[in-house]
Amino acid sequence: MYTSTEGIVFRQVKAAGGRRMLLLFTKKYGKISVGSSLSEKGRGKAALALRPFTYGNYELYKGREYYNLNSGEVVRSFFKIGEDLDKYMEASFVLELTEKMVPEDLPQPKLFQLLIEFLAAMEKREKKHRTLVLAFEVKAMAVLGSFPMLEQCACCGETEDLQYFSIKDGGMVCGKCRNIGNDTLIYAPKFDIVNILKFFSKTPLRGFEKIALAEDVSEELQCILRRYMSYYLDIGTLNSENMFYGEF
Ligand SMILES: [Zn+2]
Repeated sequence: MYTSTEGIVFRQVKAAGGRRMLLLFTKKYGKISVGSSLSEKGRGKAALALRPFTYGNYELYKGREYYNLNSGEVVRSFFKIGEDLDKYMEASFVLELTEKMVPEDLPQPKLFQLLIEFLAAMEKREKKHRTLVLAFEVKAMAVLGSFPMLEQCACCGETEDLQYFSIKDGGMVCGKCRNIGNDTLIYAPKFDIVNILKFFSKTPLRGFEKIALAEDVSEELQCILRRYMSYYLDIGTLNSENMFYGEF
C-alpha cells in the first residue's frame, strides 16, 4: 500500500547493500523504521529530506512488516540549528529524548506538533537555549499524561505547606509527608517550581523568545525534571545526555 505522511527524521542508520534505515517520527503512524535506497549524497530534494531534524513529507510503501521510503520532500529543514553548536547540542538532546519517549507504531500527533514548534523556536532563539529545552520537557510530560501534581500534596491531598517535590509521589508533597520514610528522591527547590511548571505548561513555545531562567534555577530544574522523566517514562540512558551533560 502506498501512503504519505508528514514526518521528522530522528536519525538514519546505514544498512547493508548501500541502503539506509531512517528512524522517522511520522504524524500518521508514530515512530517507524523506514528502509530507503535513496542516496543522501548530492543536493537533491530527497537527499535533504533524509537528514536529522528535517520536517518533511514522505511517500512510503507500507508492507506487512516494513516501510520503504519512495520519496521525500523538505517542508522545513531548520538548518539554522546546525549553525550554532550549543543549539545543535540542545536540539539533538530533545530529538533523542522524543525518540525514547514514543513507542513504535503509535501515533502521537500532539507530541509531533510540539516537536515542530520546539525546532522552530530553537532555530530562531538567540541565547539561553536550555530554557526552551526545559519548557519542551514540561510540555511533553503533559502531553504524555505524566504531568506532576502541583495543587495539592501528592501523598495526602493537603493544600498547604507544599514545599517539596517528590519524584516517587509524582509531584509536590507537604512537610508532614516529606518526613515519612527515607526517600532520597525528594527535592526542596530553592525556586518557585509550582509556578514555573504551570507557566511552562500554559505558555506556547513561540512565546518563550524573551523568557530565560537564571542559570542556577535552570540547573536545578533540569536535574529534577530529568529524574522525574526517567522515573515515569521509559527513556533509559540518552547518548546525547552523557555526551553533553555528564551523569546526573
Ligand atoms: Zn501530605
